[in-house]
Amino acid sequence: MPELPEVETVRRRLAPALEGRRFEHVEITDPRLTRPNDPFEVARELEGERVTKVDRRGKYVIVRFESGRALLIHLRMTGSLRHANGGELREDPHRRAVVNLDDGSDVAYRDVRRFGTWLLLEPPEVDTYIDARVGREPLDDSYKAKDLAEKLAHRRAPIKAAILDQRTVAGVGNIYADEALWRAKVHPLTPANELTPDEVKAVYKGIRASLQAGVRRQGSTLRDYQLPDGSSGTAQERFKVYGRAGLPCERCGTPIDKIRVAGRGTYYCPHCQVYRGAAYAARSSSSPPSRSRRQSSV
Ligand SMILES: [Zn+2]
Repeated sequence: MPELPEVETVRRRLAPALEGRRFEHVEITDPRLTRPNDPFEVARELEGERVTKVDRRGKYVIVRFESGRALLIHLRMTGSLRHANGGELREDPHRRAVVNLDDGSDVAYRDVRRFGTWLLLEPPEVDTYIDARVGREPLDDSYKAKDLAEKLAHRRAPIKAAILDQRTVAGVGNIYADEALWRAKVHPLTPANELTPDEVKAVYKGIRASLQAGVRRQGSTLRDYQLPDGSSGTAQERFKVYGRAGLPCERCGTPIDKIRVAGRGTYYCPHCQVYRGAAYAARSSSSPPSRSRRQSSV
């Protein structure tokens, strides 16, 4: 699934093509993309809208219009956007929508597994909708370790599950969570509220460093992720742990191990990331386990 670096790369590529342009004609051929809203109605509503800005929050691409409305695009598992000159789009059985722009170029949306969504929000809904689902942007200058510490203080969930929750911090998914925890030398199963202040700071730095590395390499290309010009990112060539089970840790040489955390395949170094949650758990075993909180994976 595209995570912050991939979505940010898409945003950066799409912005110059879309900003200032008007949606002249819109065709949405898959009702799943807009459900429960009618795809024909959404397409008609989008026609005539002029784009002021292509924005991003977490894993959402936000196409903001002059009218104050916004089109919220979530690529989910396999969604991708393509920009091409008029008449240059090739036939594609997985295409779900096409926008013809007023300069004659086209933006096409492709999605093999069809989990992606397009949601048109009216002006008063835009910020409230997003704020309810997505936490702080980890790469903002104003985002500090204490912001992360506040979110983790009352979470008993494993740290990996906590940072996958989009309300803890925006845009971290399965890949960059593993990368961040390796950088922080924190075991993914460590209960979030048992991290020391130094460990929280290390996780904060690890999240920022791994996301920045991903953005620098224009995201990672695994499966269906493609950039709007059809090219690929290269972050996957530099992953520290993700997808590297059995290969040596670049810090200590120990083979990277793979376990499951929060239902997700999780890579870590058993030497660099020592689990010490059990000792902490034994100390506080008198308190009953809390029910795990509902996760938000937007
Ligand atoms: Zn190691």
